[in-house]
This record gives sequence, C-alpha cells and structure tokens, in this order.
Amino acid sequence: MGLLSLGTPLPWEEAKKHADHVRYHGITQFMNAWDRLKDRHGDELLWGDEVEYMVLSFDNEEKNAKLSLRQTEILKKLSSVVHDMPNGFGDAMDIPTFHPEYGRYMLESTPGSPYTGSLQDLLSVEGNMRYRRRLARKHLKANEIPMTITAFPRHGTPGVFTEPYADPAGAISSHSLFLPEEITNPHARFPTLTANIRQRRGSKVAINLPLFIDERTPRPFVDATIPWQRNIYPEDPEAKNGAALLDHIYMDAMGFGMGCCCLQLTFQSCNVEEARRMYDALVPLAPIMLALTASSPLWRGYIADVDCRWNVIAASVDDRTEEERGLKPLKENKYRIPKSRYDSVDMYISTEWMNKPEYNDHPAPFDEKIFARLQNHGIDDLLAKHIAHLFIRDPLVIFSEMLDQDDENSNDHFENLQSTNWQTVRFKPPPINSPIGWRVEFRSMEVQMTDFENAAFAVFIVLLTRTILSLNLNLYLPITKVDENMQRAQKRDAVRSGKFYFRKNVFPPGQKSPTPSPPLSPVSSGATTPIDGEHVLNGINGVNGNGMNGIHNGRPHKDTRLRNCFPRVPPPENGITRGPVEEEYTEMTIDEIINGKGDSTFGLLDMVYAYVDTLDVDEKTKNKIGEYLNLIRWRADGTLKTSATWMREFVRSHPSYKFDSVVSQEINYDLMVAIDEIERGVRKAPDLLP
Ligand code: ADP
Ligand code: MG
Ligand code: MG
Ligand code: MG
Ligand code: MG
Ligand code: MG
Repeated sequence: MGLLSLGTPLPWEEAKKHADHVRYHGITQFMNAWDRLKDRHGDELLWGDEVEYMVLSFDNEEKNAKLSLRQTEILKKLSSVVHDMPNGFGDAMDIPTFHPEYGRYMLESTPGSPYTGSLQDLLSVEGNMRYRRRLARKHLKANEIPMTITAFPRHGTPGVFTEPYADPAGAISSHSLFLPEEITNPHARFPTLTANIRQRRGSKVAINLPLFIDERTPRPFVDATIPWQRNIYPEDPEAKNGAALLDHIYMDAMGFGMGCCCLQLTFQSCNVEEARRMYDALVPLAPIMLALTASSPLWRGYIADVDCRWNVIAASVDDRTEEERGLKPLKENKYRIPKSRYDSVDMYISTEWMNKPEYNDHPAPFDEKIFARLQNHGIDDLLAKHIAHLFIRDPLVIFSEMLDQDDENSNDHFENLQSTNWQTVRFKPPPINSPIGWRVEFRSMEVQMTDFENAAFAVFIVLLTRTILSLNLNLYLPITKVDENMQRAQKRDAVRSGKFYFRKNVFPPGQKSPTPSPPLSPVSSGATTPIDGEHVLNGINGVNGNGMNGIHNGRPHKDTRLRNCFPRVPPPENGITRGPVEEEYTEMTIDEIINGKGDSTFGLLDMVYAYVDTLDVDEKTKNKIGEYLNLIRWRADGTLKTSATWMREFVRSHPSYKFDSVVSQEINYDLMVAIDEIERGVRKAPDLLP
C-alpha cells in the first residue's frame, strides 16, 4: 500500500465533498512535478521486488493453521531489530524494510536498497529474499511462520481461522458476514478505505468465484456456511437477495482481495519516454505472467474453478455505484465505468510510433476538464488521457489535516488517486525532492511458495525488460485482447490448457530479427554459448551503448551491466504508423509464447537467452540464471506444475477429502505444513521445483 499518512480520516459523507479539491490539487501537483521532471534523463537501472507474507499461527494439537493477527507487534519488533543491526551487509544485503499491508496478518518486505544493473545483483536477489524471510521468522513466536501464499484457503470460514479468534459480528467497517473487523490493519487508513468503498458503492462488495464441482459436490450448491439469516447490519440480507450466486464461492468484503499476497517488481527507467515504453510492453505480459504464477485455487474453505486472485481483488475494492456499473441510468454520477479501480490497464501511453492508436480500443472514460488542463500545460494527449482517466475516481481516504498542501512540494493529493488505481502495471512519477527517477511497477504476479521461485520470476522479468528494450520488441495487442487474456489467465490450469492472444511477430518492421537457427539452447545446458553470437546479436541493440550491434572483429562486445537508455528504432520508411491490427495477433498457448514453436519461431525465453548471451556473465551467474529460466520454461511447457495445480491436487489426494469441494481445517493444516516444509527444503516436490 502507499504511504500511510497520519491524521483523522473523513467518513465518506464528508470525504466526498472534498473530492474535487483533492483532484484539482492532485493535478496541480502532477503538473508542477512534470515541469521539473519531464526532461530528467540518464537514470541507471535500479530495481526491486516486494514480497508479501501471511503470518500463520500453527496449533499443532488442534491441527489448525490460523492467521496471526499480530502484525503491529511484529512490525514494531522487526523495525527495532533492523534498526539495531550493524551496517555492513554489503550493498545487496542492505538492511531490509518491512511494511504494513491491508491484512493484520500480513507483512511486506523489500530489499533495503534497490538492486542495480550489476550482474552480481542477479545472484543476490534470492539470498536477499531468503534473508528477509529468515529475519521475519526469527522474530516471530515459535509456532508462527511467515508464508508466501497468495490466498489463505480458510479465510472467512465459520469457526476459528484467526489467532486470536474474532467474531465477524463486530465487522463495523466491512459489515462482512465472514471476516471480523480485526482482520484489517488497525491504522485508520484501512478501516476507512473499507467503509468508504462500501458506502460509495451503496452496498457491500460482492465477489463470486465459480466453485470447482467435484464428484460429490451437492448440486445445485447452496452454501451452508453463509449465515443467510443474520440480521446485524443493514446489508446482511444482500446475500439472500441475489448477491450470493449458486455454485459459487461468495465473498463480501475488501479483506478477501486486499488480504491476498503478491510479488511486485519496480524498475527505474532512463527517462520518462523509456518508462512509458516499458509500461506499454509490460501490459500484454501481465496476464501471461499471472497464468504462469497462478497460486490461489482455494477460497473460503472451498476449491475454486479458478487459479488466481485477480478477479477477487478487483471485486473486493469495486467502489463503483450502480449507475457507474451501468445498472441504472446516470443521474448522480458522471461516468459509466467499465472496470473496478483495481483491474487491468486501460490504455497504452507511449508516444513511440509502435503504439498505434488502434491498440487503445477499450472505452476508458476520462475527465474532460482535467484532460484540457493537462493539455494546456503542454502534456501530450496520451499521458493527459492516462492521468485524466485515473482521476475519474474519487479519493477514498482523506485526512482532514492534509487537505491543504503546498502544491510545489507535495504530491500527496496526486498520490491519493494514483495509488488507489491498482492496475496490472503502474507508471510511477518520481517522488518530490528525491533522487528517484521515472519507474514502472509490474503488479500482476502471484507470490510463490519459495524464494527460489520468487527470485526466478524477479530475475526473469528484469532480464525480459532488458531484452525488450535491447531488441526493441513490439508486444502491442489491442487492450480488449489483453483484458480477455486476463480472464483466460485465471481459469483453472490456464497455463497448460489456455490459449492467449499474442503477437505473431514481435520484431518491428525493418528490424532484422534474430535468426532462429541454429536453435538456441538454454543457458544452463553448458554446451551452447556463445551460440552464433552474430546471428543472435543482429537484433540486439546498442550493446555498447552506442546503438551499434556491438560486433567487433566478428565477436560481440559483452555488456558488463544490465542497463537503461537503449536506442530506439526509427519509424518505418513508408511512414505508416497506424492501420488495422487484427492480422497482427493470433491465439497461442503459454508454451508457444514462452518457449516458441519448435525451431521455427522464437519464444520470449529464447530472446532472453539471446540477451543473456550479450552479457559478460561468469559461469556461476550464468548457471544460476539458467536454473531460474528453466523454472519458467518448464512451467510454461507443463513439465512443472503451478502452485495452484499442486495445491488443488494436494487437497484432492488428502485422505480425509470427501470430493465435495471442501477444504477442511485438517486439510488446510496439512497443506500449510507441507508448504512450509517445501519452502525449507525438507520436503521434496519434484513436480513443483526443478
Ligand atoms: P509500493 O508499495 O509503492 O509499490 P515499495 O516502496 O513497497 O513501493 O517498493 C518499491 C520497490 O522499488 C522496492 O523493491 C524498492 O527496492 C524498489 N526501488 C526503490 N528505489 C527504486 C528506484 N529508484 N528505482 C527502482 N526501484 C526502486
Ligand atoms: Mg504490498
Ligand atoms: Mg510496497
Ligand atoms: Mg505499496
Ligand atoms: Mg507495490
Ligand atoms: Mg524455442
């Protein structure tokens, strides 16, 4: 979550009166920052991950794994511990940071300082993650464990799923039938966010995940664990009045979504243009990476027919009114809004020629006045529209003490809207008065059970970003196709059985593409590199930072760092930079997208291997990278399972499972124990890890 401002949060009825004020000054703040930062150039690659954990409390006698609600004490302890630590971890092992998150059982950790472009840093990611986990583990109670699971399988079940127990009857912010007030971080921001979303929307949020129908699941499935007749809060009858769907797992509170964990990565760009290019390139990759990292098949004590969290979070903070959702004619509200404020990206923003206007085919409403203000300030239409679209939302949490700000030296009002538009990719302007540059955050991935996997995905993505920039890859797809991919990505076993829209050719016209022959071999197989460097490098741009191919005497110069500031390809000679796009893409499996089709077509991974071949990496680093890329390769081709598939199979093969879609307390306990054992390396999982 964003910065935790302090003060008195306004209840919704008050807050909404100040919405225009916050928006107006937010835009002023953005324009002031723009003037100072638009020409900022030459920032090096800095990057970092965010790993989120759930702290579980194990009751080994009752055989119950519960969510520990001790976040406040744990964070206090961790911050005093890290504060007291001597310096001298070296650059990459800098003292890590632990942050609060929405759930009172959650922690987030980031490296103490961002990784750099140093190739050595690629090796330290996993160590850094392990170190952070060890540190957290060490400062918990003996029966508590920080676990990187995306969704807790028994969140919101009847009985005891938190430690200590708390009664949902007291859920004054969410009015949930299932989640107690105590599930939420007590900092004023979070209960206020929860209550204000409910009030703005005019009802509780309603989340319905299709149930995985097993051999003995009663049909139609009417969920006996829903307290249908409860009568405490005015919204209690919503469930029986249609909010809860048959054959679905119904959930009714922000905590079901914002209480999930994920793996996020942030990259600093050379300048604002490269950041916009990077943002756009990551948009179509978001659903692909969601499918590859799928790890949340179990919800509120049931097996779902989906593998991912995304739609749950999107619905869990969906503050749109009935008018905005198109259920009633517009009267009080200004816009029909197609998506929740937590959802996939609505528009591409790069001004590069590759970004044809036809790709922005999703109807994204924007605030015309704000758009005009930004335009008059000299901001180009694409960026102006992006910001004016984010600003159709209302600020949800306003602290009365923070209403009046110095718009030259604050970006608080801007961030109020920016950081509550939770999309698959975030374009992050530099903070005020800081050395930090333009950044892009990749947000779709689910957190993995082990740090090996989390590091593998982090390293894969950072290498992929460099590959995209150095090869000038063109990944554009119409936004509506990306959205369709987001839905497909969440389906059960999408990674093996799903098909996804993807570009047939990712090389820009006029760009000589790498020759796929001889076939590239994985870095780790030893016998390969430098495979036919010339062929591969033909497409790789500016390896020496001079825009040349980097070929010298027939041998490539090798880069000693991952870097920013890549040369761009000029527009095509015929000058045509718009036109029909339907012929550009087709449907492919994840295997085809990642690994290519046999020897004839490059997959993304082939291109990453080719990029790695342009780096001056030692054998050790190369082998480690090879291990990481193998995880991606084998996930994509089905050799290895996703955590989602593995968990689903664990439940269905548990001796006490009744084939009724139910994840009992005992099954959940055994599952959590197994995950912890896998994470510690004491339980082998050959179908999960290479
Ligand atoms: P948020 O929660 O707003 O997404 P966090 O502060 O939790 O952001 O995480 C930001 C991530 O960005 C961390 O991994 C951090 O190491 C990394 N980071 C910090 N500074 C930079 C920078 N200048 N460029 C890129 N990444 C950075
Ligand atoms: Mg977080
Ligand atoms: Mg964070
Ligand atoms: Mg955050
Ligand atoms: Mg983040
Ligand atoms: Mg291949």
